Amino acid sequence: MTALAFIVFCVAVLLAGRGLASGAMGEVMRVRFGGDAQRTRVVVDLDRTSRGEVIQPGADGRVVLALSGVAPHRSLSGTGIGLVRGYRVAGAGGASRVELDLAVSAEIERRFLLPPGDGVQHYRYVIDLKATGRAPTAPRPTPRNAPRRTERPLIYIDAGHGGRDPGAQGAHARESDVTLAAALMLKQELERSGRYRVRLTRDSDVYVGLNRRPTIARQAGADLFISLHADAIADPATRGASVYTLSEQGAG
Ligand SMILES: [Zn+2]
Repeated sequence: MTALAFIVFCVAVLLAGRGLASGAMGEVMRVRFGGDAQRTRVVVDLDRTSRGEVIQPGADGRVVLALSGVAPHRSLSGTGIGLVRGYRVAGAGGASRVELDLAVSAEIERRFLLPPGDGVQHYRYVIDLKATGRAPTAPRPTPRNAPRRTERPLIYIDAGHGGRDPGAQGAHARESDVTLAAALMLKQELERSGRYRVRLTRDSDVYVGLNRRPTIARQAGADLFISLHADAIADPATRGASVYTLSEQGAG
């Protein structure tokens, strides 16, 4: 097996050059729930203002939002009520990723930021979920001969490992951190070109199952799936990169 010591080295240089640490991050303090199995309100308490962006609107049983400029001190998780079975909040790259696992099929009815007021001292990001009434089915796979789209190609970048699976352990870094940093940078570079839509299978230090990763990309109709790994090997003289591709016949 060829080692990817070279890739680890490249990323280390990039990291030193950019300085990923963001200075004044706000805090995600807690997540609260209200409502019932028809309509559920999710309130994310923040100590400063933030901007929300929907990453997954609920189609595959999960609602995922990014909240800019805020992060929990330590990843938050727990059970929800009503339409939400469970939640996770983790920080990554100057934002938080808020994941809501849905108990039944639901969608975002509205979402908004509430500034401090009415006796509440802090900001709140509110996500109102509404049951769609549809059975909680997985989204239909994209048909093989789907009509050609006119929108930009969708690239899915998969940062290897994460969460309870740190991957290879280098002298100064865990593989899961290296791949995440590389994925975030690659996304930024590709987006800057204006030619692609780019999404990540994970954008924070969370565990995503190996089988789930390509499934996420396939269900989103991705045109390309790039999985990043940075293996470690004891011999520092080893250099190089491995590229794995899958044949159309699936025998890859
Ligand atoms: Zn790996």
